[in-house]
Amino acid sequence: TDIHVLLICGGGGSEHDVSLRTADFIQRELASAPDIRLTRVTMDADGRLLDDQGQLQELRSDRLLYSATGSAQPVHYVIPSIHGYPGETGDLQSQLDILGLPYFGCGSEASKICFNKITTKLWLTALGIDNTPYQFLCANTPGEVAKARDALQKWGSVFVKASNQGSSVGCYKVSSEDALAEALQEAFALSPYVLVEKCLKVRELEVAAYTYEGELVITPPGEVCAPTDTFYSYEEKYAEGSRAQTHVVAEGLSEAQLGWIHEASKRAFVGLQLKDLSRIDFFLTDDGEIYLNEVNTFPGMTPISMFPKMLQNQGHDFSEYLAALIRGALG
Ligand code: ATP
Ligand code: MG
Ligand code: MG
Ligand code: MG
Repeated sequence: TDIHVLLICGGGGSEHDVSLRTADFIQRELASAPDIRLTRVTMDADGRLLDDQGQLQELRSDRLLYSATGSAQPVHYVIPSIHGYPGETGDLQSQLDILGLPYFGCGSEASKICFNKITTKLWLTALGIDNTPYQFLCANTPGEVAKARDALQKWGSVFVKASNQGSSVGCYKVSSEDALAEALQEAFALSPYVLVEKCLKVRELEVAAYTYEGELVITPPGEVCAPTDTFYSYEEKYAEGSRAQTHVVAEGLSEAQLGWIHEASKRAFVGLQLKDLSRIDFFLTDDGEIYLNEVNTFPGMTPISMFPKMLQNQGHDFSEYLAALIRGALG
């Protein structure tokens, strides 16, 4: 019998549009699975689910998806294809837990911990994994801003980051006090907590960590090369004419560096109790130090994105991987 899968994309956050592109990829990948019937709905800013004709759909506690036209269909499994709120933040996952519906990806708590850049760091430190030096700000008040200014003075240049964003939204490179005030203003408008991180001169390495046939797979790191005059910003990630380059396998890393990254990725995946997939990002400094930057519980799957490419390079077909996870969750 057919498995009815509900693909939920969009969401009310800043990464709504990116989420649609990831959903396009997932939809294409599942099109050839003979036993899977996919229904796609888009969540709007008010949290309503709409089908591709703009008809309201509602997922109720009987695990049926009701259409405004009166029809209803079963839902056996959900794919929350939402970067940022309310998917990558774990909120939708909580709702699915309450409904008793299995879903693709990390659970609610792991999602919540990893989406918040501050709780991520607290957990990484608790797990003994080095992460970028930072200062935590809990309000845009003179006392807190003074801490940011001290950090800027100490480190020369910093990254100001809204704690609850992705796709480089709310992320600013700052080298002067004037720019600092402006960046803090913008970051606090997006998130109640803000980090001021030491700006490192780095190579950016990304690892895909995922379960395949019940085994945890950690790929060798790939590399993202942002243009030298900027960083891996929203534009360089998604805009037409992005100058960022990606390499599925990073070159020139020592055995020790590869081993360190592998171990840290494994410890993060297991320690944070991740499920199904994640993309774990590292910084390698000019001095050869390695820091874990962040754990993305629902990595992008747009044409430029690394996650699907890294699976493929591992000899793992994404459509088979996902279809097997879906069948396994229901079997
Ligand atoms: P994602 O789209 O991967 O979820 P994000 O919005 O969570 O990204 P980060 O990955 O933390 O944000 O930062 C975005 C980019 O900013 C990084 O890929 C890197 O280019 C740059 N960057 C962030 N922090 C630092 C740092 N401390 N030193 C140097 N560059 C940094
Ligand atoms: Mg992120
Ligand atoms: Mg992200
Ligand atoms: Mg990132």
